[in-house]
Amino acid sequence: MSRIYNFSAGPAALPLPVLEQARDEFVDYKGTGMSLVEASHRGKAYDQVHTEAMGLFKELLGLPDNYKVLFLGGGATLQFSMIPLNLLPEGGSCDFTLTGTWAKKALADAKLVGNVNVVWDGTEEKYVRMPDPSELTLDPNAAYFHLTSNETIAGIQWKEWPDSGAVPMVCDMSSDIMSRPIPVEKFGLIYAGAQKNLGPAGLGVVIIREDLIDRNPRPLTAYLSYKTHADSDSLYNTPPVFPIWMVKMVLEWVKAQGGLPAMEALAEKRSGLLYGAMADSGGYYRCPVQEATRSTMNVVWRLPTEDLEKQFIAEALAAGFSGLKGHRSVGGCRASIYNAMPVEGITSLVEFMKEFQRKNG
Ligand SMILES: *Cc1c(COP(=O)(O)O)cnc(C)c1O
Repeated sequence: MSRIYNFSAGPAALPLPVLEQARDEFVDYKGTGMSLVEASHRGKAYDQVHTEAMGLFKELLGLPDNYKVLFLGGGATLQFSMIPLNLLPEGGSCDFTLTGTWAKKALADAKLVGNVNVVWDGTEEKYVRMPDPSELTLDPNAAYFHLTSNETIAGIQWKEWPDSGAVPMVCDMSSDIMSRPIPVEKFGLIYAGAQKNLGPAGLGVVIIREDLIDRNPRPLTAYLSYKTHADSDSLYNTPPVFPIWMVKMVLEWVKAQGGLPAMEALAEKRSGLLYGAMADSGGYYRCPVQEATRSTMNVVWRLPTEDLEKQFIAEALAAGFSGLKGHRSVGGCRASIYNAMPVEGITSLVEFMKEFQRKNG
C-alpha cells in the first residue's frame, strides 16, 4: 500500500484508521451479513450509527440542549438556499460579511430570496483578511447575520467572533468545523459540508437552535423545510447513510485524539510550521494574506514567478505531495491541512520547500 500526502481542499484526506475500519466493516457490518449501505435506514444497525453520530456532534461541540443536529443531502450548498428560505421573512433583511468565494455564493442565493445587507466587503482588498469585529455595524432588526468561519480558497479564518446581540449568527463552518472549540451559544445556526473535516462529500450537517426551526416564514416543500428534518430526526427520507457512517467513525477518532482542544493544538502546530517556513525563506515563499487572520486549515503562498509555482507543484507531486495547486480563481499554492493531516506531512513538505528553494532560489 502506498498513500501519499494529500493536500486537497475537498474532498480531502481522512484519518487512515477510519478508512481501514470502513474497509474491514464494509462487506459484513458487525455480523449482520450485509453491508451497512445495503441495510434499511430504519433498521437497528443503521439507527445506532445515526444516533451515535448525532450524539458525537453534541458531545464534541458541547451543544446546549436547545440545539438540534440535522443530517441532510446537498452538502453545504443546499444550505445557501435553505437558510434564507427558512429564516428570512418577506420584506425582512439579513446581514452578510463578504469575505471570499464561499460567502459570495451564499450571498448570491440569499439575494434571490430576500434583502441582503453587506456589512463588510473584502473584494477590493482581494480577501486578504477577515474583518475585525469592531469594523462591523450590524442591523439589530436583521433576520440573521451570516459569516463564513474559514474561507477555503483565500486562506483566511475568523479568530475573534463578532457579537450580533439578539440577531442569530449563522455560520458556514464547512472547512474548519471540529478543528477548534466553538462558543456554540453565540450561533443560531452552524452548517458544513462533510468533505473537509468530517467525511465523504454529499452530506450537509446543520446545527440549529430550536427556536429557529419554528420560524417558518413561508410555505416550503417538505425537503426544504428544517422542520421536516427536525421533526423526523433527519429520517424523513433516506439519509446519506454512507457519509453519516463515515462521519461517525471520524468523530470517534477525533474524540480518541482528545477532542477539539487537541485538534486545535495540532492545527496550530501544522499551520505554524508552514507559516514559519515562509517567514524563514527570505521572501521566496510569500503568504499573500494578513497575519492576524491566516487560516490554520488552508495555507496559501506564492513563489517569485508563476513558472516557478508550476515547477514547484509538479515536483512536489512527483515527491508524494498532491493537491498543492491553488484554486484556479487565485493561482499560487495552497496546502489544505485538515484534522486528518499528520504533522509529519507538514515537516516533510517543509523539507521539500527548503530543498526546492536551495535548487531554484
Ligand atoms: C467546500 C465548501 C462549501 C461547499 O460545500 P459542498 O458540500 O460542495 O456544497 C461551502 N462552503 C465552504 C466554506 C467550503 O469550504
